[in-house]
Amino acid sequence: MGDSLQVSVVIPVFNEELVLRKFYSRLKKEAEGWNKSYELLFVDDGSTDRSFDLICEWKKTDSNLRVIKFTRNFGQQAAVLAGFRQSKGDIVVQIDADLQNPPEEINRLLNAFTDEIDLVVTIPRKRRGSLLRVMGSKILYNLAQMLFGNRFTLNLSSFRAMRRSVIEKIDQCQDRSRYMAVLMSWMAVPTKHVEVDHHLRKTGKTKYGFLPLIRLTWDLITGYSNFPLRLVTYLGLFGASVGFAIMMFLLYQRLVAGILIEGFVVLSAVFSFFAGVQLLSIGFLGEYLGRVHLQIQNRPDYIVHKVIE
Ligand code: UDP
Ligand code: MG
Repeated sequence: MGDSLQVSVVIPVFNEELVLRKFYSRLKKEAEGWNKSYELLFVDDGSTDRSFDLICEWKKTDSNLRVIKFTRNFGQQAAVLAGFRQSKGDIVVQIDADLQNPPEEINRLLNAFTDEIDLVVTIPRKRRGSLLRVMGSKILYNLAQMLFGNRFTLNLSSFRAMRRSVIEKIDQCQDRSRYMAVLMSWMAVPTKHVEVDHHLRKTGKTKYGFLPLIRLTWDLITGYSNFPLRLVTYLGLFGASVGFAIMMFLLYQRLVAGILIEGFVVLSAVFSFFAGVQLLSIGFLGEYLGRVHLQIQNRPDYIVHKVIE
């Protein structure tokens, strides 16, 4: 490894002033004990509280600290991506600033690397958080895993460590929605799993309430699978078959049995069902068209206001 930097810790931060001081002091203490060269790379994702000021204050006396500041909030995934790109370490650790994952466990991730392993992901012994947050994650996870089938195993934990080579591979992916955890699962590079503790947030609250979770789930589904489009095909196939069967039935009644059915009610029911299916289909198509639109605009994932080295 020579003179190169050994470990980078990337921390996305969005309005975490309440917990940040504690996080930093615990992380710093831990990092000093690794006996490795390291950098702590904070990415301020457009915080509107004092988070950034705090980091800048510590920066004055801590030469291992680096800060990236976004112009506004671009989301956790963008912040992590920016951190990865700026990081210089041979091993890069991603950890949240809220102390749900204790910094004291980073060392276990670092020790888990062998020559064959490129990525170390964590599995919480028991995930903690509000009922909504934990259930939301479970549903998101199961839905996504169902879509991907057994092609690869998902790990959505935001606490992980990887070799530089993994980051280079991430950078090759030109997706608009770079959901880091999914991308890394998708790449299926040699991975080791480590069990870790997961704690309740000490202060502040999760940035993923009901709506953001729904948005994330939808983003994940449309970003990583064509299932909704396929569903439309199935629905269309189903509708066409049902329509055909009804037509045959009516024809049979008319020609063979001599009965003319004037089922206005039946017709309206069938009509409204298929009108619904059609609107839904157009909606799904629109979602993907929207994605294509975003993708061809090819805007950067985030805008950096400044980097303090
Ligand atoms: N975060 C961020 N940008 C956002 C939302 C969150 O940088 O738009 C950061 C946040 O400060 C924290 C991490 O991402 O360090 C995880 O966020 P949070 O704890 O709210 O998520 P949860 O633990 O509920 O998944
Ligand atoms: Mg959290």
